[in-house]
Amino acid sequence: MNASKVKVSIEFFPPKSMEKFLDVAKKLSSLHPVFYSVTCGASGTDQAGTVKTVAQLAQNCNVPVMPHVTCINATRESIKQLLTTYTDLKIKNLMALRGDLPSDMKSTGDFAHANELVKFVRQETGDHFDIKVAAYPEFHSEAKTSQADLENLKRKIDAGANCAITQFFYNTDAFFHFLEDCDRLGIDVPIVPGIMPIYNWKRLNDFAQMCGAELPLWLRKRVHDFGDDEKAICDYGVGVITGMCEKFIAAGIAQLHFYALNQSDVVLQIINNLSLRVARMERSEMRG
Ligand SMILES: Cc1cc2nc3c(=O)[nH]c(=O)nc-3n(C[C@H](O)[C@H](O)[C@H](O)COP(=O)(O)OP(=O)(O)OC[C@H]3O[C@@H](n4cnc5c(N)ncnc54)[C@H](O)[C@@H]3O)c2cc1C
Repeated sequence: MNASKVKVSIEFFPPKSMEKFLDVAKKLSSLHPVFYSVTCGASGTDQAGTVKTVAQLAQNCNVPVMPHVTCINATRESIKQLLTTYTDLKIKNLMALRGDLPSDMKSTGDFAHANELVKFVRQETGDHFDIKVAAYPEFHSEAKTSQADLENLKRKIDAGANCAITQFFYNTDAFFHFLEDCDRLGIDVPIVPGIMPIYNWKRLNDFAQMCGAELPLWLRKRVHDFGDDEKAICDYGVGVITGMCEKFIAAGIAQLHFYALNQSDVVLQIINNLSLRVARMERSEMRG
């Protein structure tokens, strides 16, 4: 197990207050993240907020930045313009997504699925961007079968994606089974676990429902015991996530992607705990 070798990436959303947000990003830069990623609003209408946040991060933090780009409302022309904007900002990483279709929309735009977007970005910009795509250890809610969802991930990689980042999950077995499934299909790019710290239980429930992630029974029961004590839930969550990260590191996972929800303290605490625990284990391994 080697914690010092594990890389960290951190996901933000476009903030309301840029000043406060940049303080958070600067604090997290002490972890030397391999990139900061910036989400793009669910309806695809908030691309301006993403561009602004990406530009601010690029200017103020010494960390590579990765904008999320979705197919929602996108045309070939709008994506071409966006790629030029990001190339001008010296951005080298891109997260290509379909995005969630708002209920009143029947189709996404010129690109029906993320694989088509990946293919277009490669056609337009060659190898300029390192392209990441989404993966789902508990499978995407719209997929007809789990196998069809795996095949979709393969399509995105075959279209030119270099890496996949997963939806959050708390069932580590689901992730390890997923890695085996990917191996069997010949998906040979890194699959980075997406890690959602527990900040606010009610918000997490809403998120989980929205994106089809399971909150396991054991976790729900433990959290229930804390009642309304949000601090106790958050502290318990830090322990749960630290334990998950330990398992990933022990299994040789090279990168951990944190959904930071524009906060620094919880992620810093997890990484700090993780370093202490791993250092303790390494000392006892050396002794033993
Ligand atoms: C790390 C991460 C970051 C994210 N960031 C954002 C963000 O910034 N903004 C945002 O709006 N959303 C974001 N999402 C959510 C994502 O947009 C949704 O989960 C969306 O519903 C699916 O996006 P996708 O890129 O996985 O889509 P796709 O890969 O296109 O897949 C969508 C569904 O269609 C199925 N499918 C794919 N191809 C076909 C086909 N040819 N025929 C039939 N079915 C097919 C797939 O199996 C899947 O069920 C993120 C998700 C992750 C994991």
